[in-house]
Order: sequence, then structure tokens, then C-alpha cells
Amino acid sequence: MFDQFALHERLLKAVAELKFVEPTAVQVAAIPPALEGKDLRVTAQTGSGKTAAFVLPMLNRLIGDAQPRVDVRALILLPTRELAQQTLKEVERFSQFTFIKSGLITGGEDFKVQAAMLRKVPDVLIGTPGRLIEHLNAGTLILKDVEILILDEADRMLDMGFAEDVQRLVGECAKRQQTLLFSATSGGASLREMAAQVLREPLHLQLNRVSELNEGTRQQIITADDIAHKEKLVHWLLANETYQKAVVFTNTRAQADRLYGHLVAAGTKVFVLHGEKDQKERKLAIERLKQGGVKVLVATDVAARGLDIEGMDLVINFDMPRSGDEYVHRIGRTGRAGGEGLAISLICHNDWNLMSSIERYLKQRFERRVIKGLKGTYQGPKNLKASGKAAGSKKKKLEKKKGSADKKAKPAAKRPKNSPRPAPSPVVSQDGLAPLKRKKPAAE
Ligand code: AMP
Repeated sequence: MFDQFALHERLLKAVAELKFVEPTAVQVAAIPPALEGKDLRVTAQTGSGKTAAFVLPMLNRLIGDAQPRVDVRALILLPTRELAQQTLKEVERFSQFTFIKSGLITGGEDFKVQAAMLRKVPDVLIGTPGRLIEHLNAGTLILKDVEILILDEADRMLDMGFAEDVQRLVGECAKRQQTLLFSATSGGASLREMAAQVLREPLHLQLNRVSELNEGTRQQIITADDIAHKEKLVHWLLANETYQKAVVFTNTRAQADRLYGHLVAAGTKVFVLHGEKDQKERKLAIERLKQGGVKVLVATDVAARGLDIEGMDLVINFDMPRSGDEYVHRIGRTGRAGGEGLAISLICHNDWNLMSSIERYLKQRFERRVIKGLKGTYQGPKNLKASGKAAGSKKKKLEKKKGSADKKAKPAAKRPKNSPRPAPSPVVSQDGLAPLKRKKPAAE
């Protein structure tokens, strides 16, 4: 129950109005220390209820300490416009019984209109770094009175190249009393560095527990020979699986566009989202998906970040994500709120080792699946190391380097018989696991 938290009655009223009954795990973990004024570093994925976990303590601070409004008192930084818009909605819903005013500053909207909004000085400002910096430079934004600073999806802001902008904005909030840093993944060295720079004696909460994946979401792999084979598999899956809404993830926007083209040509109603799509196209795609006019979205990770679309119950990884955390994040979209979900990863020979690292990371084995009539030649490596990775690949590389005659590709190994999925592993904190190497994402 939310009344376990020392929240102002007006906030509890809003929570009740929104029909939130039980707080989610991240809310239970983060709200009490945040209310005490502690700095937090929280790893929690979209869909976990993380927004309320920072919005409620933030609003509580602003209500509890009502002051004549001079300048912005709370700043929420986010990587994408959609996420910023969704967060604004959440802030407005929770602050509906208070006098707290919020404003949104993102790219793709009219600068002058935004400057006029800033002149009225909202209590809470929600925005993406690039446009906020433009307002700082133009003198239309003052952040020196910010009391609470929130960085949401901080890992993604770094991935998108916002590190410098974020640092500058953080520097502007020099008098802040509290900083909350949320990320969907545990991130790499740059995130640790940023956390060390911006947080004071933070509490680190890891909510991205891998075991959360097990509930309600089946995870399968299908081996594929090449891209064309993967495309055929996607067509088949979208035509034959039962789902409300599906998202197909690719690692590059070129592949997203290519797949989109194929699907459209085959008469599938589909939208594509990637870093090059403009605001109008993104809004349209999200609306149509929400309304149900379109059931399928092809997206890159960056474009799909922050999307919270109900009924996303099928996720297809056209390409394997580059890290276990990213996998958790993609798959976390399915099977939400107790619903059933299905996650299918398409695995070519160059995806195999990544897939097996992710299996090890998650401490589970994905179901091996074959689609009748679409079985390819590649069925996984012939010999496996104890780790599950392909054996002998290094030797082959060495031989190639030495200029030895090209060996003929070995005939594909027999796929291991479908084996039942092992029982879900117990809750394992990511802290205890060897992190996967997080490669630099390809251009969005
Ligand atoms: P988020 O992870 O913040 O994007 O939240 C995902 C969705 O869950 C949003 O639509 C929230 O409004 C909703 N939500 C968050 N917390 C709760 C809760 N305790 N009970 C019911 N729904 C919630």
C-alpha cells in the first residue's frame, strides 16, 4: 500500500485516483530513502514503475517546502522526447491536487513558445539535454535554484552522446540538495564516472533483477543462415504468432529500414522508429500503436527507449542486443503486469557467442525452436565449449591470419534436441555476475 510511505496526503490522493494499489519493487526500494533526501543510483528498466519512484519523492519535497516560486526547483533530464512527454504526463497526474506546475523542453518544438513557458517559471522542468543547453545559452533558462535533480535513463543519455551537455546542466544546478540517477542498465565505466561526479554518498539500488524476466515471458531462439533468412522468419512469425502488438529490434537503422520495406511490401501494417525519424513521425507511430491501428513496430534500441505501449507481447530480436542488460531491457517490454509474453531471438553464426554469453548472464537456457519449412542449414556451432560458445573459432582466425588455405565451411552441427527450459534461477543481483563486454553501439 502506498500509505506506507511518508507522502503528502495530496500525493496519496493522486495515487489512489490513478488506482495504483501496490507499489512496485523499485518504488518500495527507492521512495523511502529518496524521501529522506538521500542521493540514489537506481538500476531499473522501463515498465518497472521507476518514474513514480522518483516523481513522488520529488513532488513531496516541493510541496513540503512551499516557497514563493522564483526559479525552477526541480529538473528531470531524459534522453528522448517521448520519454520526456511521458514523464511530464506522469508528473502532471501525480501533482493534480497540488499547485505545482511543470514544463517540457525538448527539441522539435517551437523555441519561442518554450521561452514564453520558461518566463512563467515552472516548478518542475522536464527536458532533453540539447534543447535545455540552447535555452541556457540564450539566457532563457536559469537553473541555479534547482533543489532536486533527476537524471533518468542516464546510460542512454551517455550512449546518445549527451555526456558533455549533461555535465554542463548538472554544473548549473550547483545548489541542489539531492540528485537521483536512474538507468535501465548497469552501464559501463562512463556511467560509473558520471555517478561518481554527480552523486553524493549515493545509495545504489539494483532492481534489474534478471529473474524478473522469467515471469510470464517465454524466451526462444531460432537459428538463421543469413539476413534474408531472418527476414523470412520475421514474416512467418508476424503472420503466425498470436500477439496483440509486436516489436522487432534491429541493431542498425539501415537494417530497420530494410526490414520495414520488406514488411510493407508484404502488406504488413508496420511503423519504423530510429534515430533519424522526426518528431511528427514518432508521435504518429506511437499513437497508431497505442490505438491498435498498427500492431508491429520495427525499432532500434535508442528509438524504442522509453516507449510504454500496453499489450506489447511479442519481441523479436532480429539482431542480438549487444549486452545482457540491453537484452533484459528489450525483453522487459513483454509479459508486463502479469501478462504473457514471447521473446524470440534470431541467431546467425555471428550472433551465437553473444547469445550464449547472454544465456550465461541470465543463468538460463533459451528454448531452441525450429519453424517447419523454414529450417536453415545453420543450427549452431558444431562443437561447443563448456561456456556454450563456439569452439575453435579462435584457431580458425589464427589460421586465416597465417594465410593458410581457406577451409571449407564445416557442415552445420545437428541442433540439440528441444530441451525443456530449466527452472527459473533464483533472484540474482547483477552485482554478482561477470559483466558482459558492452560494445559501443552502432550509429543510430
Ligand atoms: P515506468 O516504469 O515508470 O515507465 O511505469 C510503467 C507503467 O506502470 C506506467 O504506465 C505507470 O503509470 C504504471 N505504474 C507505475 N507504478 C505502478 C503501480 N504501483 N501500480 C500500477 N501501475 C503502476
